[in-house]
Amino acid sequence: MNYLSWHKPAYQQLAQRAGRLPHALLLKGAAGIGKRAFASALAQGLLCEKPVLPLMACGACEACHWFDTGNHPDFRMLQPEAAEAAADDADVTDKAADKKKKRDISVAQVRALAAFINISAHRNGAKVVLIQPAEAMNVNAANALLKSLEEPPPETYFVLVSDRPHMLPATIRSRCEQLALNPPTAQEAAAWLAESGAAQPELALAQAGGAPLLAAELDNDAYWDGRKQFLDGLSSRGFDPLALAEKFATHPIPQLINWLQRWTYDLASLCFQQRLRYNPDFKEALTMSAKNANGLEILRFHRELVRFQRIVNHPLNARLLIEDLMLRYGRAVRG
Ligand SMILES: [Zn+2]
Repeated sequence: MNYLSWHKPAYQQLAQRAGRLPHALLLKGAAGIGKRAFASALAQGLLCEKPVLPLMACGACEACHWFDTGNHPDFRMLQPEAAEAAADDADVTDKAADKKKKRDISVAQVRALAAFINISAHRNGAKVVLIQPAEAMNVNAANALLKSLEEPPPETYFVLVSDRPHMLPATIRSRCEQLALNPPTAQEAAAWLAESGAAQPELALAQAGGAPLLAAELDNDAYWDGRKQFLDGLSSRGFDPLALAEKFATHPIPQLINWLQRWTYDLASLCFQQRLRYNPDFKEALTMSAKNANGLEILRFHRELVRFQRIVNHPLNARLLIEDLMLRYGRAVRG
């Protein structure tokens, strides 16, 4: 794992202090710009036994091999259980409380670190704990972590990653040194995406609001097909809210809301500023829709979607929610 080119300055800042790094580091910055890649490169750089430069892993030593295969004995990653066992999520009979738990980093996960933290490193080097996203720790988990942050064992590094550091308890933030990671420039992002073999680098980047890792993630046939069908439905002359809801009844709701958010953002932009940001390939359809739309109503609906985005992770009647969204959209565009 290497540092992304636009994060070299942040890397250099740390590399100059290699050997006297803070024991707890909070990496913060916008979603999709590569914070996890940075955290991973840093963790590997700390564990590597023959680093090519300070904190820059060789990728070839035994420690790097263990790290790359996810088996380094002196490395732990904490993330929500949902991310570890995504398959369980399909079980719609799960109780609300169980679902919630899986999206948290639980106190049990943090407590399970105790043994790891308190024994000496297997390979006589550093030990690294990566926590991402750090704001997924619930209150009890954060409290359990505090003790380790207050009395850090020697050579043990905590790396916390967060898009939303303000959601972390102040007690956690104050015990970490914060390092802000910057997004790439538009050129850097496009170059990186093209190099990593993206099918539609520019459109993917537009969809992701300029965040390259997010763009790489969504650049696949299933995404583009689903999006096209959905946006075609929204912009068709005979827009039928319930028919479109029916067609997408089993589609992941967060993604539908994302598409609606970007679509309504562009619609409102066209109404007020004559430009669009996320869906340049639908310029014609958007311009047509914007002609008849009431910009203020669209804006109001767009803001409502932001609120929806916060609750969609809770179990509810998906079908009803999608129908509701489609009907609201219909009312918004018709003013
Ligand atoms: Zn190595």
